[in-house]
Amino acid sequence: MSETKEGSRTMLVVGAHSADFVWRAAGAIAVVTSNDGKAVVVALSYGERGESGELWKQPGQTVENVKRIRHEEASQAAAALGATFQCFDLGDYPLSVDSAALSRLTDLIRETAPDVIVTHTEKDPFNPDHPVAYVATQRARLLASGAGVASGFKTIKPPELFLFEPHQTEQCEFVPTTFVDITAVFAQKQQAMKAMAAQQYLHQYYTEQAEHRANHARRVSGLQGIRYAEAFQRVLPQVVTTL
Ligand SMILES: [Zn+2]
Repeated sequence: MSETKEGSRTMLVVGAHSADFVWRAAGAIAVVTSNDGKAVVVALSYGERGESGELWKQPGQTVENVKRIRHEEASQAAAALGATFQCFDLGDYPLSVDSAALSRLTDLIRETAPDVIVTHTEKDPFNPDHPVAYVATQRARLLASGAGVASGFKTIKPPELFLFEPHQTEQCEFVPTTFVDITAVFAQKQQAMKAMAAQQYLHQYYTEQAEHRANHARRVSGLQGIRYAEAFQRVLPQVVTTL
């Protein structure tokens, strides 16, 4: 049993690229905001080179224009979910997080003081940037919350840490330990996916994924009303007052 009320959760989502939060966590974000919680989305890059497929088919396309479009799309998607969006614009393929960016992320975690942080898996043999985002987020989380003892710097209560479901689940050694019922907010996820016009090919895929995960969630819980779900992997032990 978490001591934080479900209705007042603050969630921080850290993606390597501007659209990652949409496919992997839009439902979980909308659940938080529809329960009067707060969701802050940060993208470390726009995914301008590696994940903007359709935009690069246009003749004369430029990196700056791709970034501008990606910013608009991600802002619209976040707004559909009731979340805020910001991008650190660190560049992608390769994404690199230097010490200034790490400090910026640490400061953001301290300011936001989230109950929960969501980011990528540690392993992703198909993506050079997602594991970089994991490492940076994990480090920043620890720098913001300390080692669980008194520290010589300002610390926040340790946020829970969850990982997104990656595109190729098994190869990333992702184990779904938590399902979020996103049935009630699925229309918002669809709206957010629609906003990511540069990657429309993923819309159907992630709709089907949500249906598959709902099937698993129904079997685990017996809750027959779950039609759409998102899967996450919990990194840290859950602290409860009773089993
Ligand atoms: Zn990505």
